[in-house]
Amino acid sequence: MLDDHYLCELHLHLDGSLPIETIKYLAEQEPGSTLPDTDTNILKSRFSVPEDCKDLNEYLEKFDLPLSLLQTEEAISYAVKSIGHTEEALGVDYVEIRFAPQLHLKKGLTQRQVIEAAADSAVFFNADHSTKIRLILCCMRGDDNHEANMETVRLAAEFMNDSDLIHSSGHATDNESVENSNPLGQSASSYKKVFIPSAKGQSLPVIAGIDLAGAEALYPTENFADIFSLAKELNVPFTIHAGEAAGPESIWTAVRFGAKRIGHGIAAVQDEQLMRYLADNNIVLEICPTSNINTKIVQNYAELPIKKFLKMGITVTINSDNMTVSNTDIIREFGALSGSGLTYEEKLIILKNAENSWL
Ligand SMILES: [Zn+2]
Repeated sequence: MLDDHYLCELHLHLDGSLPIETIKYLAEQEPGSTLPDTDTNILKSRFSVPEDCKDLNEYLEKFDLPLSLLQTEEAISYAVKSIGHTEEALGVDYVEIRFAPQLHLKKGLTQRQVIEAAADSAVFFNADHSTKIRLILCCMRGDDNHEANMETVRLAAEFMNDSDLIHSSGHATDNESVENSNPLGQSASSYKKVFIPSAKGQSLPVIAGIDLAGAEALYPTENFADIFSLAKELNVPFTIHAGEAAGPESIWTAVRFGAKRIGHGIAAVQDEQLMRYLADNNIVLEICPTSNINTKIVQNYAELPIKKFLKMGITVTINSDNMTVSNTDIIREFGALSGSGLTYEEKLIILKNAENSWL
């Protein structure tokens, strides 16, 4: 469908994108926990929002069970790999999967262990598959988790920037083995930094950067200045969910913090000056069409200001956000937009934008 162009997905949540078969498998591993229905279609209706999803609250309820299943290293590792397989089957070349380490501590894991489990899994997957996975660590909006957020930033920096310790997956293919060699002979659990060879011939840390996710309307972006000044100080790139449930001021704050990319950013359409700023400064919008319809930010695909953003010269990308919760994937997102008037040329620009906007 997308010709020979490189297909990249930049905004995808781990907990909201678990394949149904993966949810079933993980539930079976839980002692005493059984899903009431094993029929895939019935399960799908349980984990995906209905077409008439009422609001963001109904949307967010769908994350509870998947998240409860992602509380062990084995489950986190399995989940990352499963999403890699799904993306590979769709023809995705590159995906940045995001998750909040602090939401995976219910069974005693530390943030470090959560990140290591996910990073290890991505490195193993990358060695054997044409689809490449990198990870974004989400900080969470809230009023009682400041230290947990700061820890996420510090760990991101440690995983990305400590070049003394280079990890080996042990599964590297021939042409990747140089990048993944393990000069210190360390075990898989003792690394601080991992690299993946990208299609661009570069090596990049498997931890791509950080994000801020959660209830934007309840906890304004401006409350989180500390996180992003630390991220800047430690050279950790970041994207911020902004202009989804709140207005243009949230996006202004995010770009003042130094965000290279904005998750959603739909509210920018209300502010001409902001749109010009985004275009002039090459700030990338990670637009997630079906998710925005689910949460009633727009009523339909045609209402999304994608054409307007493109006309203004803004770097627009298209993403799934939550494959399972929104019952979608990157191919379906492009398909829906084509059905609502996105031209072939516009589609090509969007694909190129994503290819040039890795965190
Ligand atoms: Zn999101």
